[in-house]
Amino acid sequence: MLKVFTKSKKKKYATIPSEMAKQDVPEGIMTKCPNCKKIMYSKELIKNLKVCFHCQYHHSMNSKERLDSFLDENSFEELNAGMISENPLNFPDYLEKVEKDRKKTAINEAVVTGIGAVEGQVIAVAVMDSTFRMGSMGSVVGEKITQAIEKADELAVPFVIFTASGGARMQEGVLSLMQMAKTSVALKRFSDNGGLIISIMTHPTTGGVSASFASLGDYNLAEPGALIGFAGRRIIEQTIREDLPEDFQTAEFLLKHGQLDAVISRVELKEKVANILSMHQQGGEPEW
Ligand SMILES: [Zn+2]
Repeated sequence: MLKVFTKSKKKKYATIPSEMAKQDVPEGIMTKCPNCKKIMYSKELIKNLKVCFHCQYHHSMNSKERLDSFLDENSFEELNAGMISENPLNFPDYLEKVEKDRKKTAINEAVVTGIGAVEGQVIAVAVMDSTFRMGSMGSVVGEKITQAIEKADELAVPFVIFTASGGARMQEGVLSLMQMAKTSVALKRFSDNGGLIISIMTHPTTGGVSASFASLGDYNLAEPGALIGFAGRRIIEQTIREDLPEDFQTAEFLLKHGQLDAVISRVELKEKVANILSMHQQGGEPEW
């Protein structure tokens, strides 16, 4: 049995079941939900796709966790894993920061792309990772997403993207902004060829990412509670000199105002996306 010290005065330690103690728990044994403040076993939380049992808060997922939970087992083949950023504007310390995140996250850029399967249906997939430079979009992120869209076109399979981003990467200046146009053109071409695009916005999807490929799906979906918006709340309030509603820029607010097709719990996401994919193969109506 493993002993875990707690702050309780009466009880000096708690015990956890021995089979759980044997398992590897990289982020600590217990996790406190930032929303409802309840404490739960990290391992159990991960098993529930990092959705809080008590309040349904969706804890953030990195790209590996996302791919593992969304795709069929062993179906993922990565594309362009080795594509890395240059420093086109000679921005001070930029490459050092990228290198630091590369070591921290074990991925080379803020998006992971490839081919995989969802309940046996092949897709091209792109997953942004907010643990790498806040998921910011530079030239490599734009290029990898564009090539994944082109791969979907070539294979005539749907394109599914999970977005999570602070916006354009300031260290690449206008070259980052150009990625908005480049990815949008690639999606238009794919769409004109009959391709199906599903965008799933996760917390947070902001700036140039929200204003380009994230919002260009045939289906624009989001996870509950995700912050989605172009400019920040304070900038908008200062510009229009008005207070904004409390839930402004949440997935639920956008759904209510017609900017999203559905807000879907992560627990049901794979099944619902699989349903959309098969519906487009067979013809029919989506069931939310
Ligand atoms: Zn909670």
